[in-house]
Amino acid sequence: MAEPAGETAVFVSHPHIDHVGLAGFLREEVAVHAHTDAVDLLDALSATGQGLTHGDPAWRRLTDGQRTRVGPIEVECVAVDHDVPGASGYLVRTSAGVLAFTGDIRFHGHHPERSWGFVERAAECQVLVTEGTTLGWDPGARPRDETDVRRDFTELVERTPGLVLLSCYPRDLERVSTFLGIAAAAGRTVLWTEQTAALLRLLGVAEVLSSADVPASELHAAPGSYVVAPDPDDLASLLDLPVGDGYPAPVFVHANGEPLGPFEPRWEPFTDWLSALGIPLRQIGCSGHASQDHLHLMLERMRPSTVFPIHTTAPLRLHPPTGTARVVAEYAARYDFAGRAR
Ligand SMILES: [Zn+2]
Repeated sequence: MAEPAGETAVFVSHPHIDHVGLAGFLREEVAVHAHTDAVDLLDALSATGQGLTHGDPAWRRLTDGQRTRVGPIEVECVAVDHDVPGASGYLVRTSAGVLAFTGDIRFHGHHPERSWGFVERAAECQVLVTEGTTLGWDPGARPRDETDVRRDFTELVERTPGLVLLSCYPRDLERVSTFLGIAAAAGRTVLWTEQTAALLRLLGVAEVLSSADVPASELHAAPGSYVVAPDPDDLASLLDLPVGDGYPAPVFVHANGEPLGPFEPRWEPFTDWLSALGIPLRQIGCSGHASQDHLHLMLERMRPSTVFPIHTTAPLRLHPPTGTARVVAEYAARYDFAGRAR
């Protein structure tokens, strides 16, 4: 028998699988909260057969600024910008002080004002728990932003004579809408898989078509009039598309969709298929995560007494300002607000 859950509550930061994937395993008496836009997306995923393993919990919907009491603690939902709807950080007010948690956050996306608003509202915090994904990456040149993505996609759909293939994460609704607009302006129709089309329709995206809505003969007669987003789990379906001998040159545009990257096992077969079919691959995405510079600027503005970098392979590359202690948390250890293990 499990121990009683007491006043345990769970607050989900956003509907990406590494942040919400296990929510279906929570015990029924545990309250599970998430931003209402995140719950809409999760409900639509469930309704189209793409829901959480073990089902969805009974979501409690939050809006930006909403405060929830859990025993002596108060938790405030604060919207932030990330590449998925309903992304939130949280401010946790306790008798020992305020803890701020960024969730996944970026400052170069569609709504930087949300993330800077979080920084402002979290200025009172003693403890900051921040994601640090990009600390593990080569800092490189200026990080790409959504303006770069828009410009590159526009150029590609205009310049490519043949079929444009696309991998874009359907959960990133703002990018989906942007791409639909760019394709339409270039006289191209976007064809999604049936499952993705059903998801996008449920989420209110207008004029969504799937490959089943257009006869293959039409696609083969005018490949330059289409953008096709193939099923990443059915690469053999590429063989049915108008690419190769006798067709105008195609391109595959990878914009942070699936397969997500070289770290997942589907990536190598994916690039093998493209080479075998002679389809060039162009990667034009941008990250959902704050750059190293933005992470440091955020810290500079917030100046908490303690910062815990998490969600990163290189927490030691976070360099806090004078007066802020950086603590790299040990797995399953407990800490007080001064960052001392207890
Ligand atoms: Zn995320």
